[in-house]
Amino acid sequence: MSIAKNLLKIKSTLPSTVTLVAVSKTKPIPDLMEAYVAGQRIFGENKIQEMAEKWEAMPKDIEWHMIGHVQTNKVKFMAPFVSLIHGVDSLKLLEEINKQAKKNNRIIDCLLQIYIAEEETKFGLDEDELDEILHFVQNDKNEMKNIRIVGLMGMATFTDNQNQIKKEFTHLKSIFDKLQFRKDAINRVSTISMGMSGDYQLAIECGSTMVRIGSSIFGGR
Ligand SMILES: *Cc1c(COP(=O)(O)O)cnc(C)c1O
Repeated sequence: MSIAKNLLKIKSTLPSTVTLVAVSKTKPIPDLMEAYVAGQRIFGENKIQEMAEKWEAMPKDIEWHMIGHVQTNKVKFMAPFVSLIHGVDSLKLLEEINKQAKKNNRIIDCLLQIYIAEEETKFGLDEDELDEILHFVQNDKNEMKNIRIVGLMGMATFTDNQNQIKKEFTHLKSIFDKLQFRKDAINRVSTISMGMSGDYQLAIECGSTMVRIGSSIFGGR
C-alpha cells in the first residue's frame, strides 16, 4: 500500500480526540511529501540534525515534533522551529530548552517523559523526579517562562505481552490524571503521548491523546 493510503486508513480509525504524529525518521523527503499531500501536518523525528534538514526543505506549515532522546548541546539547532519536544527527562534539559526558546523569542511546548517500561534502555522520569521538575517550573523565581509543559509521554516495554503493555499505559494514565489536580499551576496539561505502530490501539483504549506512528505509515526502517 502507498504511504497516503496507509495514512488515511490509520486516520480513519483514530478518535477525533487523538492526534497523529507521523514518525518519519530515516525516511526521505519524497516519502514525507506524500504524507503531506495527503493532509498530514505533524511529523515526528528522533534526530535533531535530520529534523532540521527536513524542516528547511519542506513546507512551513508543518509541525515538527522531536520524539527522540535529546542531548542538551543540540537543543539550539531545533529551538527556532520545533513545535513539541516529547522526551524531556531532566531539569537540565528543560532549562536549556527554556534558554534557547528565550533566545528565539519563543515558548516551546514540552512533554515530560515518564519511565513506564521494564527495560533498562528506555529513558524517563519517575514520579518523584516529575514532582521535582513541576515544582521548579511553577516557582516564578526560576523564570521558566519560555517553556510550557503540556503533558506526558511514555514508551511501553517492547514485548508481545499485551497485559504488560496495558499495565504500563494505565500507569502513565494514572500519573497523568493525578496531574489534573494541579492544573491551576500548570498550563494546559492536556496531552498524553503514548502508542506506536504496534500498540497504538491499546494506548488509545488506555487514554492516549497522541500517537506516534512510523512503520505502519512509511513502511519498515
Ligand atoms: C520510532 C519511534 C516511534 C514510531 O515507531 P513505529 O513502531 O515505527 O511506529 C514512536 N515513538 C518513538 C519515541 C520512536 O522513536
